[in-house]
Amino acid sequence: MTKNPVKGSARSAPLPCTEPDRNCPLCPRLKGFRDEARAREPLWFNSPVPSFGDANAALLIVGLAPVLQCVNRTGRPFTGDYAGDLLYATLLEYGFAKGVYQARPDDGLKLVDCRISNAVRCVPPQNKPLPLEINTCRPYLVATIQTMPKLRAIVALGRVAHDSTLKALGVRASDAPFTHGGIHRSGELRLYDSYHCSRYNTNTGVLTTDMFRSVFARVKADLAG
Ligand code: SF4
Repeated sequence: MTKNPVKGSARSAPLPCTEPDRNCPLCPRLKGFRDEARAREPLWFNSPVPSFGDANAALLIVGLAPVLQCVNRTGRPFTGDYAGDLLYATLLEYGFAKGVYQARPDDGLKLVDCRISNAVRCVPPQNKPLPLEINTCRPYLVATIQTMPKLRAIVALGRVAHDSTLKALGVRASDAPFTHGGIHRSGELRLYDSYHCSRYNTNTGVLTTDMFRSVFARVKADLAG
């Protein structure tokens, strides 16, 4: 079914579809938060945010979750917040995107051999999903990975994305500790770690633009090799 080295229970479990229903009820707290946002801001997206990019891409980027006034508003991963400014600028620089990023889902930006998804598809309060919610949404990440037949590289943005991706791949956390710039192998697939490109991380110096660029430079070189 797939060339990807997804192991263990993640491979043997029945696959759900890759995109949840817009009214997905599986996380009651997030459903309630979503319903409140729909009532307050009926013109916002306010639904599980689908992956962006082609399923035949070699690169998958996994983020954390939508932010309330940003991605939850626009409905496209990393679109409308500071993290998106840095991420899309970097993807454009390294040829993983083309066009002009204008922080709108209708800006015409295309990803090139790249796809973007999130560990948790619904907006969580204070940008903090609970462990149970991360686990509950993981089948969609598993399905996303398993339905990318040419996938060779995953960039995990932040520890939550890293941990959930390891579980999706059936890799033990002790075998692949999170470090910025770390690279882990799972069969033919490589997992690249980066600090999340959030405004907080860049404002505090945890992540510099050069640190972020270096991750994608390495991914680009490895995919070309
Ligand atoms: S976070 Fe995922 S599993 Fe939970 S309600 Fe949203 S789409 Fe469903």
